[in-house]
Amino acid sequence: MMRPFYTLVAMQTIGALMLISKPMHNLTFPILRLLADAKFRSGAAIARHFQVSRTTVWNALQEAEALGVEVYSVRGKGYRLPEPLSLLDKDEILATLGEKRHIFELQVHDQLASTNSFLMQASSQGAPHATCVAAELQTAGRGRRGRVWQAGLGASLTFSLLWRFQCGASALSGLSLAVGLALVRALHEYGLPGAQLKWPNDLLVLHENKYHKLAGILIELQGDMEGPSTAIIGIGINLHLPNNLIHTIDQPATDMHTLLNATINPNQLLGLLLKHLAEILTEFEHKGFESLRTEWVQYHAYHNQPVRLIAPDGSETIVKVSGIATDGTLLVETPTGLQRVLSGEISLRGV
Ligand code: ATP
Repeated sequence: MMRPFYTLVAMQTIGALMLISKPMHNLTFPILRLLADAKFRSGAAIARHFQVSRTTVWNALQEAEALGVEVYSVRGKGYRLPEPLSLLDKDEILATLGEKRHIFELQVHDQLASTNSFLMQASSQGAPHATCVAAELQTAGRGRRGRVWQAGLGASLTFSLLWRFQCGASALSGLSLAVGLALVRALHEYGLPGAQLKWPNDLLVLHENKYHKLAGILIELQGDMEGPSTAIIGIGINLHLPNNLIHTIDQPATDMHTLLNATINPNQLLGLLLKHLAEILTEFEHKGFESLRTEWVQYHAYHNQPVRLIAPDGSETIVKVSGIATDGTLLVETPTGLQRVLSGEISLRGV
């Protein structure tokens, strides 16, 4: 009889605590890679493969619980995952990048607290331009202003890209919008049309008549306002969120698997994203957001619509969106006339 190795409820409660505080058993990821095709492997065969004891295998798989991964254990047959797990593969990502592969310094990690935090630190220690850090599992992903980005193993694509600009941070106000457009282009090429942009940094999809968040962008800047600057561009895209993860998110969220009804290949997706990011960031640096603005507006989720602007103290103002300025600020109609909204402190929501 097939029985789950651990229940999902236990994973949900224990997992979140352990993920942050405890490094995984060093065989957990290698064994999960071996099991990724969802075929049975006996404990003895896995133990032989890694030249360890069966108890070590059992211990390593026990820790898979904390990663939110369900592992079936069947007497006489061994272990298997309930369904195939799509994991990151550096060679496949580079192959998708084709001739653009040489632009990037690509690192794939099993587990990081936050790809942005990791890359911020690497950047201050001299990490080169176009370093990309992807994590199979991000355990403490961040959103804007201290908010949390939820991710799970095989459930999300989480990565950060370091991009050095000659211009100062003051010229980068439209950067998160440019990055959003690169995501839209990459998703189109992957086969997902219909992604829309919510100013300044989210990717939404209309699903069952309601906007759902598919991806988020977090940009952190280092350097001077006027001198050379470095952007750490963090991106999280939902690939296939399990229910227990979706329920931790306090706004409607969706994933690519639901939208495309297909297993998502994270390597092809990351390759396409990096390719489009390189193109757009180069154009952005030379011409600014202005040259991307017309295309951006085509995907603007709330163009010409009433929205709520939420201030840090929670107060809300209803305004009508009338466009995006050439520097990426939001233009809104208010009872006192046209106003510009800077991205820093304001959150935008549909009415
Ligand atoms: P805004 O950017 O407009 O201020 P936001 O609420 O979207 O608002 P972000 O900092 O961009 O804030 O993103 C973090 C928020 O995204 C979280 O507070 C949560 O509501 C939502 N969120 C967290 N994880 C996910 C996820 N995996 N998929 C979709 N949404 C998520």
